[in-house]
Amino acid sequence: MTSKPRALALAFGWLLAIASTQVSASLNVFACEPEWASLVAVLLPDAKITTATTAWQDPHYIEARPSLISAMRNADLAVCTGASLEAGWLPSLISRAANRHIKPGSDGLFFAADHTPLHQSHEHVDRSMGDVHPEGDPHLQLSPDAVPRITQALATRLSALAPDQSGIIQQRYLRWRGEWNLQRQTWRAAAEQLEGMIVVTQHSTFDYLLRWLNVAVVADLEPKPGLPPSSRHLRDVLATPLLSDAALILVASYQDDRPATWLANQSGVPKVVMPATVTGKPGQQSLQNIIGLLVDALLTHQAPRNVD
Ligand SMILES: [Zn+2]
Repeated sequence: MTSKPRALALAFGWLLAIASTQVSASLNVFACEPEWASLVAVLLPDAKITTATTAWQDPHYIEARPSLISAMRNADLAVCTGASLEAGWLPSLISRAANRHIKPGSDGLFFAADHTPLHQSHEHVDRSMGDVHPEGDPHLQLSPDAVPRITQALATRLSALAPDQSGIIQQRYLRWRGEWNLQRQTWRAAAEQLEGMIVVTQHSTFDYLLRWLNVAVVADLEPKPGLPPSSRHLRDVLATPLLSDAALILVASYQDDRPATWLANQSGVPKVVMPATVTGKPGQQSLQNIIGLLVDALLTHQAPRNVD
């Protein structure tokens, strides 16, 4: 006679166990930039992700607005770039959110830059002179070498936070890695064609990818990393002897493109505005998509302009 209530209790307990598994399956993730949100979505599609910035916002400078503080307060994991990219706003956001899981050194705070070597910005000066990258260049979201390391580390971190899903997270990572490696072969073939190309940039936003593709940066519209282009510096860039050999002036969609427009008008070197991260638009939803777009833009502009 006691077996029926006991069976019911066991069944109820089993249902509770399923419910708690489902709760743990749906992690709340705070992503500082869209690129990390896109990788979390690949590895853990069920995660509830809040992204602090878009491709049209400068990730160095955003406002710690109340909706972001609230999202940070409720997050199980924050995924950010680190290396001071978010130094102007993330520490304050973390402090105001007061989430005991998310603080420096805890498993709840993942910094991409901790998992891959950083290049130095092409002109490195100390912070007192205006360098916003004292620890090295944090714009590594388009690096064909860095992104796989970061994604692997992110898969490990997500598995630790959602251990019931570690097997499927690993499978998704391996599938993603296979696709990345396949694309990498295409980019490598492009790099052979692009060798010797030179460009002008604004900030180090695309530097990792350009370096990987054998494309040299001949001038930066910023006088120092993080300092806005000044008219004096732009005149110096215009006088750069190699400028006439530059294939294009590359600016990111979040940057003010007026300095690049001025230089393009003065020099005849075309200006190209490209997203520096995923945008959510069709064909721009993965980092592979964005790298592919950049490679295509570079190949389009590589035709030598000074043919004998
Ligand atoms: Zn920067």
